[in-house]
Amino acid sequence: MCSEQLFNGKTLDRLREEFPILRTIEARQETTWINDRKLPFAQALAECSLTMEDVLDASDRLDRFADYFRTAFPETEKTGGILESPMQPIPRMQAALEEAYGVSIPGKLWIKLDSHLPISGSIKARGGIYEVLKTAEDIAIRHGLLHPGDPYRVFDSQAFREVFSRYSIAVGSTGNLGLSIGIMSARLGFQVTVHMSADARQWKKDMLRSKGVTVVEYESDYSVAVEQGRRDAQGNPYCHFVDDENSQTLFLGYSVAALRLKKQLEENHIVVDRNNPLMVYLPCGVGGGPGGVAFGLKMVFGDAVHCFFAEPTHSCCMMLGMATGLNNEICVQDLGVDNLTIADGLAVGRASSFVGKVMSPFMSGCYSISDDRMSALLARLADAEGIYLEPSALAGMYGPVLASGDGACRDYADRISGGEPGRITHLVWATGGSMVPAGEMEKYYAAGKKLTESA
Ligand SMILES: *Cc1c(COP(=O)(O)O)cnc(C)c1O
Repeated sequence: MCSEQLFNGKTLDRLREEFPILRTIEARQETTWINDRKLPFAQALAECSLTMEDVLDASDRLDRFADYFRTAFPETEKTGGILESPMQPIPRMQAALEEAYGVSIPGKLWIKLDSHLPISGSIKARGGIYEVLKTAEDIAIRHGLLHPGDPYRVFDSQAFREVFSRYSIAVGSTGNLGLSIGIMSARLGFQVTVHMSADARQWKKDMLRSKGVTVVEYESDYSVAVEQGRRDAQGNPYCHFVDDENSQTLFLGYSVAALRLKKQLEENHIVVDRNNPLMVYLPCGVGGGPGGVAFGLKMVFGDAVHCFFAEPTHSCCMMLGMATGLNNEICVQDLGVDNLTIADGLAVGRASSFVGKVMSPFMSGCYSISDDRMSALLARLADAEGIYLEPSALAGMYGPVLASGDGACRDYADRISGGEPGRITHLVWATGGSMVPAGEMEKYYAAGKKLTESA
């Protein structure tokens, strides 16, 4: 390189001095970063442009569409047309983690199974589907198709499909967002194009094509696929581009999870307050999904909830962006880190333009996890609980171990529980996996099993 790249006026060497964590990231070592810019909730909220009102608005919109889902996707009938996932305790996994890592995890351990969300089997069924619905609602209103009080099953009609067929929806994705946007848009009658990064699994592309979705494949990573999609859509008023790197709509779609979780916690008699903190571990790619969920959780539980982003050691863009405060102005490739990981849903080298910024005063921290560890955890969870997830979804499973070990995360847990870690409820957000074909899952499992046996 002839001239050295600067980051907010600083050289890489200067950044390394200021933020020693850069050396750990460069070495692709697992690490935990505790956020020293986190503020008490009331103060953080005062600085934030988004509010609980925005979460409630998104929630109301999804409630309006419940009537549509019951008609268009009969599998959602049993939940009244609401797409929601179960949460459950995983005591056998808790014991397996304690044994495998030689720690004691004194609190409760629960899992939130977004892996089993209807329609697209991942956390993307929250934000991705929400943004398509909002787009459809906006168009229907503009065309005078929708009147106050109309039942939303009218969206599943020839008249609506005819109008939507004049519009197109486009998105860039590592796979799961494409799956959610593709399935939902095609069902409503939109033309839809999904720009898939090299990480995207073949079965996801095949499934989309079988539903009439145009899939454009790239040999490059996620950022390139998004950029190309954005460029294709530019200047076309009949094309809506779902911008995973910038979309506030996606973010708010994800945030609704928190309102639903509150109910589930109550139903299960789990108290969350200052004395009984909730620690949540969220696998993070570009940040919209886990950021949106964490935002909702903070709105609902305030200082009683503590959220961590979990990322692969080769793709820890959010940790890099938040720790340096550079957010999306730096990427892991700037440090010579390759953004190659088996966790295809997390294979993102540059974080969202706004999530790190908005969430900076709210987040507790980030940690990174190796591919081998995610893989081994996949097999351990399958053995212990019979729950099969895709590799990305295991990133959060290491959080309870870190909070119970002897590092920075443990110190944090001791602090928030007043030295009584048994009061903590740990919630692992499992973000995908129920739609992975059996043959693929066998390979994931076999690879992970081998690692647990050699360790
Ligand atoms: C996309 C995805 C994530 C992370 O969501 P982002 O919005 O990219 O941060 C986590 N897990 C799975 C399985 C995903 O598909």
